[in-house]
Amino acid sequence: MSEQRCLYCQGELEPQRVTRAQEVEGRWIVIENLPALVCRQCGERFYTPDAHDLVVALVQGLVKPTRTEVVEVYDATRVA
Ligand SMILES: [Zn+2]
Repeated sequence: MSEQRCLYCQGELEPQRVTRAQEVEGRWIVIENLPALVCRQCGERFYTPDAHDLVVALVQGLVKPTRTEVVEVYDATRVA
């Protein structure tokens, strides 16, 4: 684990649990506590193949959601 470096800034990567939001066929899902490697310098996240497989399984609806929330959506082109 210690040999892996950030692809962008060569910073040190630290294993963390992160929250990831992802669009799936027009709807958004949120995955909490997903394992990732997070760069200590720039904050970029890298997902392991295992984490990627887990996301794919969740996206395919193989697992029941923990809870459902209403999400507020903003369009930046309509603000100005
Ligand atoms: Zn970095």
